Amino acid sequence: HNSDDISAAAFVIKNPTIKFTKLFINGEFVDSISGKTFETKDPRTGDVITRVAEGDKEDVDLAVKAARQSFDHGPWPRLPGSARGRIMMKFADLVEENVEELAALETLDAGKLFSVNKARDIPHAASSLRYYAGAADKIHGEVLKMSRELHGYTLQEPIGVVGQIIPWNYPSVMFFLKVSPALAAGCTMIIKPAEQTPLTALYYAHLAKLAGIPDGVLNVVTGLGSNAGAAISSHMDIDAVSFTGSTEVGRKILQAAATSNLKVVSLELGGKSPLIIFEDADVDIAADLALFGALYNKGEICVASSRVYVQEGIYDEFVKKLVKKAKAWVVGDPFDPKVQQGPQVDKMQHEKVLSYIEHGKREGATLLTGGRSLGEKGYFIEPTIFSDVNEEMLIAKDEIFGPVMALAKFKTIEEAIKRANNTRYGLAAGIVTKDLNVANTVSRSIRAGTIWINCYFAFDNDIPFGGYKMSGFGKDYGLEALHKYLQVKSVVTPLYNTPW
Ligand code: NAD
Repeated sequence: HNSDDISAAAFVIKNPTIKFTKLFINGEFVDSISGKTFETKDPRTGDVITRVAEGDKEDVDLAVKAARQSFDHGPWPRLPGSARGRIMMKFADLVEENVEELAALETLDAGKLFSVNKARDIPHAASSLRYYAGAADKIHGEVLKMSRELHGYTLQEPIGVVGQIIPWNYPSVMFFLKVSPALAAGCTMIIKPAEQTPLTALYYAHLAKLAGIPDGVLNVVTGLGSNAGAAISSHMDIDAVSFTGSTEVGRKILQAAATSNLKVVSLELGGKSPLIIFEDADVDIAADLALFGALYNKGEICVASSRVYVQEGIYDEFVKKLVKKAKAWVVGDPFDPKVQQGPQVDKMQHEKVLSYIEHGKREGATLLTGGRSLGEKGYFIEPTIFSDVNEEMLIAKDEIFGPVMALAKFKTIEEAIKRANNTRYGLAAGIVTKDLNVANTVSRSIRAGTIWINCYFAFDNDIPFGGYKMSGFGKDYGLEALHKYLQVKSVVTPLYNTPW
């Protein structure tokens, strides 16, 4: 598609009809038991888009009953993997057939760029389904050679009923990061989208049913974190919970699992990822990469390169180019194909980001550009860059989750490694250099789950992704994610009728 196609499409579908606003339990769209609903808003204006059913503990109970029934007695875990895979392929086709409408819904609800939703996020959702569909009939255990006269083997069994709690910054990508491997494994599930962005998840529930996923396998409960989310993490009949969100809530999930049924927990949490640029780099390309790393998806991305370290030899030139590029970065309506950055997701995030910017100024960092809210309405913020930042400052310690970069100068490779590691997080890191020795040394020295060398945000279905340190544990993507939804059973028998 050229950009004319994209803008024409955006024009047609800018106000997608909202078709699904109820909970999806046991294959049906239903009101919440309490009858309560909550508002979801358009971040471009703050206006209410629609009201969505607000699930509570009782609704989670119903969803878990349906998922339990379909796990214990239904066809899904018992189907041959290839049959699950075929249904998942159909699901992927349906996602793709509805890409325009889904992309528009996501823009409306989350303020994310329409062009990117259409070209990347929604197609990625479909490719995630296909990746794990292809793995569904390749799940097998091992034959074990034992030291005594025993024959042993392992089975890879689906872990059971899983709870999945996701954030608002990547509503479609996150939905399928969780659901696709769990479906392939033969699990049944209850997924709770973030209260800011419930709309695409409900649409996916509809498509799952059309694709032939049996009732009760995939349940979507929209609602608030403190009610529906907490009910999932403390439920006695959920076998595992996979969470993506803040470190603060991740801690609560782990506590709830500990005090309920010791369900298996995996956590994908926050980050404060460093991008280290060495002085042999092409300064222009490095400045583009740094800007992209910090501002992509309005900075609402857990792996944002929110700390940028630049070696002294190119520092001044880098700063000049970076600031010029930041000033040319286009903020505005995410339906407009020329726009590079839409509004922050809601009023709370908007205020949070602005308050961090004020902190940065008070802490003595130098504001190179940006720093202000934009426009009369909606939640837009200027691309903001601070220099002279050190790791003691709050803007270098905390995840801001907005278009704010903390820039610092370094001298030696040792200094860069030390400062990059001076964080409680460990989600990702980037290195820009032509020197293989430097790239190898730094990538092995940074304690983070993903290292990007001369690139950034290079995700793919088969590259495992997850945190070190307080960025959490357990992987999404890759066969690692499939194994999160499987458990190993060991079966042992004597080799020769040995009396035991
Ligand atoms: P959040 O932790 O507030 O919310 C995430 C989800 O948890 C939402 O669905 C929310 O309703 C639910 N929730 C809230 N309180 C809960 C509770 N007490 N019990 C159970 N569930 C609860 O995070 P957010 O504000 O939605 O998202 C921003 C954060 O998410 C950032 O810190 C960001 O780094 C992190 N994030 C991490 C990744 C990753 O892959 N590591 C990806 C995206 C976002």
